[in-house]
Amino acid sequence: MILYNSATRKREEFVPNHPDIVKMYTCGPTVYHFAHIGNLRSYIMEDVLEKYLRYLGYNVKRVMNITDVGHLTSDADEGEDKMLKGARREHKTVLEIAQYYTDAFFSDCEKLNIKRPDVVSPATENIDEYIRIISRLMETGYAYFAGGNVYFDTGRLEKYYIFNDFNAEDLDVGVREGVEADANKRNKNDFVLWFTKSKFEDQALKWDSPWGVGYPGWHIECSAISMKHLGEDLDIHCGGIDNAFPHHTNEIAQSESYLGHKWCNFWMHVHHLNGEHGKLSKSKGDAMLTVSLLEEKGYDPLAYRLFCLQSHYRKALVFTWANLDNAQGSYNKLVAKIAALAPSDEAPEASALETLRERFRAALDNDLNTSLAVTALYDVLKAKTSDATKLAAIAEFDAVLGLRLIEKAAARRAADKKAASAAQGQAFAVIPEDGEPDGEITALLLARRDAKKAKNFAEADRIRDELGARGIVLTDVPGGVKWKRG
Ligand code: AMP
Ligand code: ZN
Repeated sequence: MILYNSATRKREEFVPNHPDIVKMYTCGPTVYHFAHIGNLRSYIMEDVLEKYLRYLGYNVKRVMNITDVGHLTSDADEGEDKMLKGARREHKTVLEIAQYYTDAFFSDCEKLNIKRPDVVSPATENIDEYIRIISRLMETGYAYFAGGNVYFDTGRLEKYYIFNDFNAEDLDVGVREGVEADANKRNKNDFVLWFTKSKFEDQALKWDSPWGVGYPGWHIECSAISMKHLGEDLDIHCGGIDNAFPHHTNEIAQSESYLGHKWCNFWMHVHHLNGEHGKLSKSKGDAMLTVSLLEEKGYDPLAYRLFCLQSHYRKALVFTWANLDNAQGSYNKLVAKIAALAPSDEAPEASALETLRERFRAALDNDLNTSLAVTALYDVLKAKTSDATKLAAIAEFDAVLGLRLIEKAAARRAADKKAASAAQGQAFAVIPEDGEPDGEITALLLARRDAKKAKNFAEADRIRDELGARGIVLTDVPGGVKWKRG
């Protein structure tokens, strides 16, 4: 598989460090609010990558943190803790807020068919790990204590690695004009590993440490949680493009200084979902773009997943309701077409299946080109092969695309069948003209209707005659038949 590596800025053949396992790390959500559908775009695309690696036969171990402390309102070391802000807004404790929005996040993931990572670890549960790593960085001179905080000294690095896939706006985060520079920092890119003194003294959660009671910076949690569960090397680290700087840059700085060797081979960054007016932003009214809102408006969250799959993860994607309408329409049609295929026990045609697979794999092997993979799915429907082969291909591809197509098609088939039989029952009325309905006569008249439908007129006449012999007179009317005793 060819994957674009943000660290080398090249498309590279993906080869894991250890042939038997792919170690994958994902920056998890900051749980101070609902995830917006932009955040979820990143998780959808990362989910497809994980599922495709599994499809290719790799074992994948995927780890995700939950940021429940230390992420300030600016991605650099300025501003208030996001969690504290959330807690104040809702008059709850930080831990209550964290639990509530963590649950909401995984409920959204379930609706979008995003697999839960093998390990999910809240930042607040790993304080000892941060202290251990920061202590070593202090011992080796990569970190220093100043003005009550512990900083990472980027001046000690031969190269402070910066991805170039971010925009200028992102790069300014660390050195924003108008924000007073932190006089304790030796270099402008130095960042906080441990806070005991931020501008905001009322940080809710604090822990004891060799440097005083305080709390960890945001970046250290991902390095520590990754190493705890995945060891000293990592195959793929994922996140949204805004994470590239300063977050991932700083993760690399501290991890490699701590380890004394290279840490992660591949960096995968999902570009942003934007609103019509640019970046999704609260001030433009985008903050409430949540999965629940899509549902309230009658959309299937999986239609949003399809919308995301229809474009490449390395391109910014513009969300509009009209775009989502189109995706919902495509999704419904796709399900309807699959529902029209006849499931059977028949074996798929091996060579036809292989040809279909080749297109699908070629798409995803090419830097996870999901829009071509969706085209490969449409190709299955158009292919000249048996329904059993088509259904086998669709089930296989959907294990990666995650659109729950087989399940939805089965539900659709069942609903269609139910509707058809209800329509059949309703469309044909057996009406006794004088008296009560008679079960036996109704059954005979329904059998006569079925015989007529099947163009078995001899049988239909035979039933009429049989009833005639019992003195029953029939009158055919639109939508049914009347009968009376003559
Ligand atoms: P956060 O909850 O802010 O820590 O972000 C969770 C994930 O969503 C991170 O991987 C971010 O990089 C990513 N992200 C944030 N905004 C967007 C967006 N508009 N489009 C796609 N991904 C985003
Ligand atoms: Zn992270």
